Amino acid sequence: MQSILHPGLQTSLNEAAVRSLINEVNTIWAPAGIRFHLEAVDAVQAFDIVPKKWFERDRNWVKSAIPTQRFSPTAIDVCFVRDMGPNGFFYGEPVVVSEAPEFTKVRGGADNPVAGVIAHELGHVLFLQHRQDHTNLMASGRDGVSLNAQEIRDARQRALQILGQVPTP
Ligand SMILES: [Zn+2]
Repeated sequence: MQSILHPGLQTSLNEAAVRSLINEVNTIWAPAGIRFHLEAVDAVQAFDIVPKKWFERDRNWVKSAIPTQRFSPTAIDVCFVRDMGPNGFFYGEPVVVSEAPEFTKVRGGADNPVAGVIAHELGHVLFLQHRQDHTNLMASGRDGVSLNAQEIRDARQRALQILGQVPTP
């Protein structure tokens, strides 16, 4: 995301940095046999929404700055912002990711915590719920990356549904 008016919404990532993050996301998801293909990296200008204080920068405020007409009709859209309240969120398109996540480190955690946040949010895209097992990818507020057998089964099933290879119930 690009924004002159709101520095928190202005990404610091260039295309090479995004590609590197997605490579790490694919390393995290490799044990599930799931690989995300990067379709394109676009610089999208944020809407000039009314400013808010940092602590008021909630999901809906960030989401309201994102021009939805720029979304890909075929891909999962991931929007990077420099900083916001939550580390990331997904409740319908797009996935939104902060480049300054706050988290507790766990053993075997993500090499790059931003990649960990992307991988976590893509878990939500694949219908996975939060877990409190600290080293798990789906634990909130931690940089763990592990997936259990049930999550791998569920995520693979959902990925196949998205790809149209098995019927959606
Ligand atoms: Zn989550």
